[in-house]
Amino acid sequence: MDHWHRPGLHWHCYAWVGSKRPEDTERRPPEPQNGRRPVWNSPVPPLEVMHWLAKSADRISLTTGDPAGAVEWLGKQLADAPGLETDLSAGLRLDHARAFLATYPHDVVWTYWTPGQQLRSVAAVSCPRTHNPTSEPPPPCPLGRR
Ligand SMILES: [Zn+2]
Repeated sequence: MDHWHRPGLHWHCYAWVGSKRPEDTERRPPEPQNGRRPVWNSPVPPLEVMHWLAKSADRISLTTGDPAGAVEWLGKQLADAPGLETDLSAGLRLDHARAFLATYPHDVVWTYWTPGQQLRSVAAVSCPRTHNPTSEPPPPCPLGRR
């Protein structure tokens, strides 16, 4: 099976907003106990992208199997809360996301400051995980999809 064209590939989209960068301790999921990870309700962006999937499914803003759907959702986040004027433009960010998902359907993760001094984290996280940069097994699909 080809990693980039695997059946069932979909994205879970997450957004978070805060006034400062969260502490790293808040950004780690609870350790698995007896092989199962306790439900993680913390809203803050995890240190590892795959750990978004370890959060409660309530945290998911959108699930889509269509890269265009993920890009549309990303665009809505930027429209609702644009970045600083000195930051990449929304159009450029979305062009990058579109090109990236078309050729390398993986994750799109943005963290940026808004003019209102808010830190935003916006993530379209690919699922199920077949690629793992660490030795830890990735979390399963939070919605139980395969
Ligand atoms: Zn999933």
